[in-house]
Amino acid sequence: MNRILIAEDEPRIASFVEKGLKSHGFTTMLATTAQETLQMALGGDFDLILLDLGLPGKDGLEVLAELRGQGEQVPIIILTARDEIQQKVAGFESGADDYVTKPFRFEELLARIRARLRQNTGGQAQEVLELSAGGVVLDLRSRKVRMGDGELELPAREFVLAETFFRHPGQVMSREQLLDRVWGYDYDPGSNIVDVYVGYLRKKLGSDLIETVRGMGYRLRA
Ligand code: CA
Repeated sequence: MNRILIAEDEPRIASFVEKGLKSHGFTTMLATTAQETLQMALGGDFDLILLDLGLPGKDGLEVLAELRGQGEQVPIIILTARDEIQQKVAGFESGADDYVTKPFRFEELLARIRARLRQNTGGQAQEVLELSAGGVVLDLRSRKVRMGDGELELPAREFVLAETFFRHPGQVMSREQLLDRVWGYDYDPGSNIVDVYVGYLRKKLGSDLIETVRGMGYRLRA
């Protein structure tokens, strides 16, 4: 299982990233200051660090330079609202492996984390690469769906929604949970987008796969 250190002081973003990563099978730990980040990163055995540049205590780029200066080789992806090109260059010069600009969609972050972990393990990601239920197989590497003899491609958001269900077979997922995990922290809670997308999945993957649990949400038939 991959261990990820999330260095982020904004509770809303931290919990969004934490929940998303946990639901995809990662183990996460949270640091909310520059000092904590340094201590945990140097003391812990992490596979990857997500580093917010705007942490209390010290500039994130200094934290990064200090980690690299102490020989810490772990892949580091910077999370920041600072999207200026100079900042990106400075980030890479300080030893960052990748860069995600806020606001970001969870699926984008996840794709970058996976790419980074794959590189680091020589092409052998240690996480689950296929999920299946009811004769439908999700291939997490190619992002394709296999059913019977056929193969099917889903738009990115539909794939992430399907993956979220497949990670929690038999478990009721509320609309709010699904919005949070699939659409991120910028959504309208009154939106019916979840229902619309569940409709798309039913049409493509079979109408029986995802059942409605009245007043609670949806559930993948185990
Ligand atoms: Ca911050």
